[in-house]
Amino acid sequence: MFDLTGQVAIITGSSRGIGRAIAKAMAKAGARVVVSSRKLDACQTVVEEIRKEGGEAIAVACNVAEKAQLQNLVDAALQTWGRLNIVVCNAAVNPYFGPMVGMKDEAYDKIMNSNVRSNFWLCNLAGPRMVESGGGSFIIVSSIGGNQGSATLGVYGMSKAADYALTRNLAIEWGPQGLRANCIAPGLIKTDFSRALWENEKLLANVERGTPVRRIGQPEDLGGVAVFLASKSAAYITGQTLVVDGGITVKEPA
Ligand code: NAP
Repeated sequence: MFDLTGQVAIITGSSRGIGRAIAKAMAKAGARVVVSSRKLDACQTVVEEIRKEGGEAIAVACNVAEKAQLQNLVDAALQTWGRLNIVVCNAAVNPYFGPMVGMKDEAYDKIMNSNVRSNFWLCNLAGPRMVESGGGSFIIVSSIGGNQGSATLGVYGMSKAADYALTRNLAIEWGPQGLRANCIAPGLIKTDFSRALWENEKLLANVERGTPVRRIGQPEDLGGVAVFLASKSAAYITGQTLVVDGGITVKEPA
């Protein structure tokens, strides 16, 4: 039910963190994976890890803010394996921490372009090829920040809320042609991206205390979730957002 044998997957931002864990989990489930980020060397290291574990993978450099590089990513999957079934839009940025009132336009554009327009572009480029490949699914990595207001991560949260909406629209647009779209909304996960949060001992202790499972997440907590959403087990799930946060957002305020 969770087997991805024969499927080809692209995962953006998969040289480290959540994307790397998803790429490795999908390869373990039998998918052939395209590992991708701006730094080819770092992707190549993940490819070696996957091959050592018996999986199939290639590395392709791609800055998701550049449309031509996204096209190249899709082309590389097709040229290597002749098909494309799974697209995981995982890469995202947050160059600004503070109130929205002090935010420069450049930072706003960078967040929206990298976190929303890039996903819109990649899904539009990949969709027709995924249909030709016999079906598949889009997975967008959003955040619980898309469901909450924030005094310091306001526009990042706006971009992640847009990812929920993008997912719903993709589900409607591509469902009749055999493609599903789902969103994953992680809570605090221990990666470079969130280092400033989990390295702050007071904040970490607060999050751990406020989380029903009493810990922050590890990248590997997301790997199996993405495999599930891409697999036959999720054949009747589309347009949804799956929250993966140890329960922090269902707990009553302290
Ligand atoms: P991470 O460990 O910092 O990894 C980010 C990955 O994205 C790296 O592979 C990085 O590689 C790549 N990347 C960054 N900018 C890119 C760009 N413009 N084009 C292509 N690749 C790019 O981050 P993460 O925590 O795993 O985050 C992954 C996703 O989870 C993001 O969408 C983030 O918003 C979401 N998320 C994270 C958390 C958390 O607590 N960590 C919580 C909720 C949601 P290069 O530097 O080589 O490009």
